[in-house]
Amino acid sequence: MSQLLKDKTALVLGLANRWSLAYSIARAFRREGAQLILTYQGERQKDTVEELARELTASRLISCDVTQEHDIQHLSEILRGEGDKLDAVVHSIAFANKEDLARPFYETSREGFLLAQEVSCYSLVAVARAVAPVMTEGGAIMTLSYLGSQRVMTNYNVMGVAKAALEASVRYLASELGSQNIRVNAISAGPVKTASARGIKDFSKILDRVTETAPLRRPTDPEEVADSAVFLASHLGRGVTGNILYVDSGYQIMGF
Ligand code: NAP
Repeated sequence: MSQLLKDKTALVLGLANRWSLAYSIARAFRREGAQLILTYQGERQKDTVEELARELTASRLISCDVTQEHDIQHLSEILRGEGDKLDAVVHSIAFANKEDLARPFYETSREGFLLAQEVSCYSLVAVARAVAPVMTEGGAIMTLSYLGSQRVMTNYNVMGVAKAALEASVRYLASELGSQNIRVNAISAGPVKTASARGIKDFSKILDRVTETAPLRRPTDPEEVADSAVFLASHLGRGVTGNILYVDSGYQIMGF
């Protein structure tokens, strides 16, 4: 076994269930020897996430709603209190109102626009600020993005704009945290059937299109996303920062 993350501790935010990309990433990190700290949002997911945390032998499970400043502050205090260094952070969080994903983009409400930006983009900035002080030997922060940040994708609308801001935030954070040897990257994953993806109208059509036209002629496997996250978190990714790494069967190179 390669154990690429032996002696490393990773914080994974955004694990809701077995279909979450965060779950595949946490499992791959564990396989590679990392100690895990997991967060979840609120009571609704608590039982499921507790079961998954046991399965993954996570050392801590912390409730953190990223829209709540005191939750982020609490997370930061717990991490500092542990006295251990943190080596990798996975931000796998996004949210937009379902109706804002379905209606024309120009009809997005102010409230819906700001909510999508707050949860899906600003939270990365807030989390980076909370974790940087405990990444005392440097490390890797990564987030999850989607091609809708660069191209107009049907029914992605307000989330595409949030992902564009997220990818720009990756570059600014990478530029500022690089002097602490903290690398910041995004994985732009191809479509995967998860709870969040179910909120996107006609998602199965998007999946079919990738399978038909992507260079690899197959949909994205969450384990491929997870293995790329291992690469970014490990010594192998030490020269990579400020990048958007596409793990999407090559779909993003195709012109339509
Ligand atoms: P998921 O399992 O639904 O994960 C999304 C996570 O965000 C959930 O754990 C959700 O918690 C959490 N979240 C939402 N609002 C939050 C808040 N205020 N505070 C804390 N956590 C909050 O779906 P996923 O597909 O794995 O999504 C993970 C990331 O991958 C997202 O950034 C998504 O945009 C990105 N991505 C997904 C795909 C895809 O096709 N699935 C492709 C490219 C990128 P609750 O469930 O408790 O609300």
